[in-house]
Amino acid sequence: MIERSIYNEDHAMFRESVKKMYAQELTPYVEEWETKGIVSREFWRACGNNGMLLPDIPEAYGGGGLDFKFNAILLEETALAGTTGPAFGVHNDIVAHYINNYGTETVKRQWLPKMASGEAIGAICMSEPSTGSDLKNIRTKATPVEGGFLLNGSKTFITNGLNADVAVIAARVGDDSGARAISLFVCGCDQTGFIKGRKLDKVGNRSSDTAELFFEDVFIPQENMLGKQGEGFIYMMTELPQERLSIAISCQAAAQHAYDIAVDYVKERQAFGKAVFDFQNTRFVLANLKTNLQVGWAHLDACIQALVDGKLATHEAAAAKLWHSELRCKVVDDCLQLFGGYGYIEEYEIARLWRDARVMRLYGGTSEIMKDLISRSI
Ligand SMILES: Cc1cc2nc3c(=O)[nH]c(=O)nc-3n(C[C@H](O)[C@H](O)[C@H](O)COP(=O)(O)OP(=O)(O)OC[C@H]3O[C@@H](n4cnc5c(N)ncnc54)[C@H](O)[C@@H]3O)c2cc1C
Repeated sequence: MIERSIYNEDHAMFRESVKKMYAQELTPYVEEWETKGIVSREFWRACGNNGMLLPDIPEAYGGGGLDFKFNAILLEETALAGTTGPAFGVHNDIVAHYINNYGTETVKRQWLPKMASGEAIGAICMSEPSTGSDLKNIRTKATPVEGGFLLNGSKTFITNGLNADVAVIAARVGDDSGARAISLFVCGCDQTGFIKGRKLDKVGNRSSDTAELFFEDVFIPQENMLGKQGEGFIYMMTELPQERLSIAISCQAAAQHAYDIAVDYVKERQAFGKAVFDFQNTRFVLANLKTNLQVGWAHLDACIQALVDGKLATHEAAAAKLWHSELRCKVVDDCLQLFGGYGYIEEYEIARLWRDARVMRLYGGTSEIMKDLISRSI
């Protein structure tokens, strides 16, 4: 890989401390989380204790007061450790940002310090059973009542849905329709009427819990509305580039990890009296992947820097999400092939990496929606 120039010494020290912590607190538990279908709360607390959560949220609210590159390092190291189970993208890069950017002082003080310590885990609730891509048509409704709103409806596919203590929820206010009816609300998950449904049984990324949520007359105080009424859709469009870049970062690092373990395997595995690596096909496949990874890191770094500089356009973040998620799927598939039959056996990590990759082209907006967004900029 060409030496990366976007990170300084502080970033390098943070990366080292994450690696060290992961060797103790993450790697030994990945299989257990996969089986249970959920990341342990102890891990989240350990991350909080090590100052790894909410890196770029102001210190006044318990965050690190650092830049987004620290968030990026956390995402990279998690994927390089072989999992995308702990949904740091959702917690650090999405939920904390909505609360920090649009929350009232009371709401910020109530939730951000707890999210930084790992005591509270965040979820973002946009998708519903009847609509995911077409967010303007969500049905969850917030009915104005004295002092706030009563929330009714349901959400599905919610990452951290079971683990979550705090949720940012998109809902329409009153009987209005279209984008201008949508507002965002912060809601504690222990509120009366906030019902956590079943854990969804997924093809991959199984250690990340994904659930249905139901809201039955959940009272949300007025001060828990994020920003202004009717501007929820605008806020979502503003924040989505960061969410999409987070996915792109995880994808690039996960692809690198799959490549790394495939290289190790083919150098060991023998066929026809030589290492599988020595077949020209193997070397050409790996050379192709290595080239794509090199281009990918350079592109990713340009995007991370642009985001930190406040210059990453929506269509550029969409392009990053599209390209890096497609790259990840291509890399894991080619790598699995190099493992032969063992690639399809669960005890080989590449099998799980292959399953884990597929969702990246779906969530955070599908590849088709990314193309639609990109094409609008042409
Ligand atoms: C594991 C997992 C975790 C998730 N986590 C969360 C979460 O934490 N919070 C959350 O809110 N959501 C989450 N999602 C939901 C995810 O964002 C949606 O699944 C996704 O946006 C697609 O929506 P949909 O499933 O309703 O598909 P649909 O919108 O029904 O799309 C079906 C197909 O139609 C295509 N399509 C739709 N519209 C267009 C168009 N205009 N042009 C071309 N093709 C189109 C899509 O690309 C897709 O191929 C998660 C999903 C999964 C699987």
